[in-house]
Amino acid sequence: MRRDEYDLLVQGGGMIGLATALAAADGGARVALLDREPPRPWQGGEVRQRVSALNLASERLLTGLGVWPEILAERAGRFEAIHAEDAASEARVRFEAADAGLAHLGHIVENELVCAMLAARAPQAGVSRLAPGAIAEWTPEAEGLDVRLEDGRRLRTRLLVGADGAGSAVRTRAGIHARVAPYGQEAVVANVTTGARHGHAARQRFLEGGPLAFLPLADGRCSIVWSLPADEAEVTAGLSDAAFTTLLDEAGGSLVGGIESVGPRARFPLRRLHAERYIDERVALVGDAAHVIHPLAGQGANLGFRDAATLAEGVVTALAAGRDPGGRGLLRRYERARRGDNHAMQLAMDAFHAAFTRHDPLLVRLRGAGFGTADRVPPLRRAFMRAATGLAGELPALMRTPGVAA
Ligand SMILES: Cc1cc2nc3c(=O)[nH]c(=O)nc-3n(C[C@H](O)[C@H](O)[C@H](O)COP(=O)(O)OP(=O)(O)OC[C@H]3O[C@@H](n4cnc5c(N)ncnc54)[C@H](O)[C@@H]3O)c2cc1C
Repeated sequence: MRRDEYDLLVQGGGMIGLATALAAADGGARVALLDREPPRPWQGGEVRQRVSALNLASERLLTGLGVWPEILAERAGRFEAIHAEDAASEARVRFEAADAGLAHLGHIVENELVCAMLAARAPQAGVSRLAPGAIAEWTPEAEGLDVRLEDGRRLRTRLLVGADGAGSAVRTRAGIHARVAPYGQEAVVANVTTGARHGHAARQRFLEGGPLAFLPLADGRCSIVWSLPADEAEVTAGLSDAAFTTLLDEAGGSLVGGIESVGPRARFPLRRLHAERYIDERVALVGDAAHVIHPLAGQGANLGFRDAATLAEGVVTALAAGRDPGGRGLLRRYERARRGDNHAMQLAMDAFHAAFTRHDPLLVRLRGAGFGTADRVPPLRRAFMRAATGLAGELPALMRTPGVAA
């Protein structure tokens, strides 16, 4: 049987798999993409519930991939400031883009819009989108993998990328163990109309049960991400619109001039997950397949885009030099570049989570002091903003050029 041959086969057509595929194909790699679901062309309509706060580094990548102008033209909520407050100590901290010499810190974008724009560009870049399906198994062979899909199709690839999300079948099949720890919380998300204009600020209030964020949408409303103990989240999300509005107003209405109306709610269980390895023989994991973190700082997809840019750069560089894009050295460098970075972010999120869900008076005082210091010391504020923009540390080439994004 004739087999199609690729340098890269990506399983998973979410934001991160699509970005990996496109970045590698733009650099000259032969790429195939496989997802159980067919792509969903963008249809506009009501703002979706799943949004992500994308930082400047992710904007740069999406600019380089040729989709950022289309995303901005469709709709994206720019944020120029981050305001955080601790309900228990009433301490506040404000980060303004202008203080760091920036025009903005990022955008709130619908995940479905990002996927649709990347998927629309993929064929132009030469990415072969295989008919919906999944990998059944693969076998190593000389300088590649022989891959069999569930429907019996066979193909050959030099590198297989698992971008198939938190429940990654590629990760499981490669025998890569993942450490998983539930946070005991669920995130309730909804789009809400607020009494005051959002003023392009992302606002977050740390409450006893978990953080409540108001993220500015392009249509003037806010997307809320409200982390609550799992049992409370179920009850809260199931309340009538009127009862939910009242509860949300009590929890965080003061941040946004009150809550006027709320849209449908959705819930997402929150857990931490980290793959013990990101690589196996001719296999690499990216995005949620490799790591899942608490959404309190809105960094999961941003870290995934950095994985995508780093891995694609390695593949493209190897091909240009006539080297193997699935070679062990390349994969080791990818893992070294990304695993420590992602682990550090996970630890930071866990520390925040632990510090803000415990309520002994000493900790509350320490939190208040911490917020106060961050608010008063400009170099600290600038360091935080640099981290939030994703521009700290060594950047992959696709995130180094500002383009139109920053
Ligand atoms: C409430 C909440 C808020 C968040 N907010 C932010 C934020 O503000 N900023 C941010 O950066 N991140 C945020 N995140 C994290 C972000 O949503 C994820 O990190 C990101 O969506 C992961 O993308 P992915 O492409 O890796 O995985 P996914 O989006 O899970 O995509 C996986 C793809 O693989 C496909 N697939 C799965 N299994 C198979 C299989 N066996 N065969 C074939 N295909 C398969 C699926 O159909 C899917 O298309 C948030 C997360 C949550 C829960």
